[in-house]
Amino acid sequence: MSIAIRYTEGDHCPVFVCDQCGFDIGGEWEGIYTWDPIEGNGPFAISTLHKGRCDELFNGDGVSMSGGSCWNSLKDLPRYLAHNLGPNRLLANELDESKETA
Ligand SMILES: [Zn+2]
Repeated sequence: MSIAIRYTEGDHCPVFVCDQCGFDIGGEWEGIYTWDPIEGNGPFAISTLHKGRCDELFNGDGVSMSGGSCWNSLKDLPRYLAHNLGPNRLLANELDESKETA
């Protein structure tokens, strides 16, 4: 599941959900994201996990960060997303939308 929408206090908010326990990951310091690079350049699906016990249970090895998969701290994910959705790409999307409505 990784990223979901939770309705809270009258608003729809994106949240990270732990793929092991199903609870929200409350802060970037609590979580990791992990993926299995199978072949090529992807895209590869990601899983989000609480650090510690959920990571260990998800991988079933009792010691993980994060088994044999690639992983990174959730605190790094927003800046990678911001880079990939940066001003040039956002502008390109707006231009495409304006072409569709013209
Ligand atoms: Zn968890």
